[in-house]
Amino acid sequence: MQTIDKFNFAGKKAFVRVDFNVPLDENFNITDDTRMRAALPTLKKILADGGSIIIGSHLGRPKGVADKFSLKHILNHLSELLGVEVQFANDCMGEEAATKSAALKPGEVLVLENLRFYAEEEGKPRGLAEDATDEEKAAAKKAVKESQKEFTKKLASYADCYVNDAFGTAHRAHASTALIAKYFDADNKMFGYLMEKEVKAVDKVLNDIHRPFTAIMGGSKVSSKIDIIENLLNKVDNLIIAGGMTYTFTKAMGGKIGVSICEDDKLDLALDLMKKAKEKGVNLVLAVDAKIADSFSNDANTQFCNVNEIPDGWEGLDIGPKTEEIFANVIKQSKTILWNGPTGVFEFDNFTHGSRAVGEAIVEATKNGAFSLVGGGDSVACVNKFGLASGVSYVSTGGGALLEAIEGKVLPGIAAIQE
Ligand code: AMP
Repeated sequence: MQTIDKFNFAGKKAFVRVDFNVPLDENFNITDDTRMRAALPTLKKILADGGSIIIGSHLGRPKGVADKFSLKHILNHLSELLGVEVQFANDCMGEEAATKSAALKPGEVLVLENLRFYAEEEGKPRGLAEDATDEEKAAAKKAVKESQKEFTKKLASYADCYVNDAFGTAHRAHASTALIAKYFDADNKMFGYLMEKEVKAVDKVLNDIHRPFTAIMGGSKVSSKIDIIENLLNKVDNLIIAGGMTYTFTKAMGGKIGVSICEDDKLDLALDLMKKAKEKGVNLVLAVDAKIADSFSNDANTQFCNVNEIPDGWEGLDIGPKTEEIFANVIKQSKTILWNGPTGVFEFDNFTHGSRAVGEAIVEATKNGAFSLVGGGDSVACVNKFGLASGVSYVSTGGGALLEAIEGKVLPGIAAIQE
């Protein structure tokens, strides 16, 4: 497999798929440029070698051309970050994109307009009538898949080589994230540095496990984490269940959970997971106490109680001190740690204590030699909120992509380069 370090970009044009899907305020100022900074090592290496870059990305979820989703809003900031005046093609298809890419000289950078302005990027039909019949839907799908081939080929035609540095979209088989790779031979397609790091981190927690291996799964719903939990039961020594999921388990075991978040249709599933954990010898660690509130708000009245004795009208919004201690003890003895999802409603300052305690225990374990991977949406916001990001081994930039990788799925964006 080709690697970015070995590849010499001198005189080459590289199509680099990045994830510049950054948050913008109402005046189109970038409010968090983490994703742009994450791609800089790759972009700078190509420029330093004497190559030129054609950048492809999506921004938001446009359903067609829309000014508010234009990548022109990120140009100035990208120019500043790279120290190069970045060019722009108003359309990722058509004359302008082709001419500007053809004219690129070593050291130059061209950003293409939002790839998702075209339905072909995702390969999903748009604008179907709500009452469309199944036949109409199938025909529309077939049509967009057909035109997707031309779209992909055209994107590939701009460049000599392809670099995928967009881990955030690696779980999607889109034109620019996966399909494009087949237009480049094995020597001319590769991961960018960010993607390499992500793939390595996932590989370490799934395939290079130092034991004990502990996964902490938090967040709101069992239903969204079920596949991950099932896959992890084959890998981990300890599985800590935290967050809103706790109460589905507690209720399934006959506990009183007041008005805590609960998926009543998943009670059997919770019992089944407990049974499977036992069969596989996995230590399933559940909360024993909770910080409960009399309303879903930061200013609610609060108290601590046993997790299975929550009074009527009250709800658990975080773990309690006894649980914190139990979780922390397990975490501190671990050598491989995966954390996905807060232990409570960490967006409310009065319910962050448990998540912070888990984060701090992970940092301590990491200091003692554990490998720790934190990722998946809110977990990253969580470690950033507590200033703990630098104390863990790796913070993933991928949300859905990371979770699917942990579920054991093959990610199309990764497979397309590895094949
Ligand atoms: P997820 O996207 O599934 O990882 O869930 C993250 C969300 O779960 C965060 O927004 C938390 O506020 C929420 N959450 C965590 N614990 C609870 C809880 N006990 N009750 C309600 N929501 C929770």
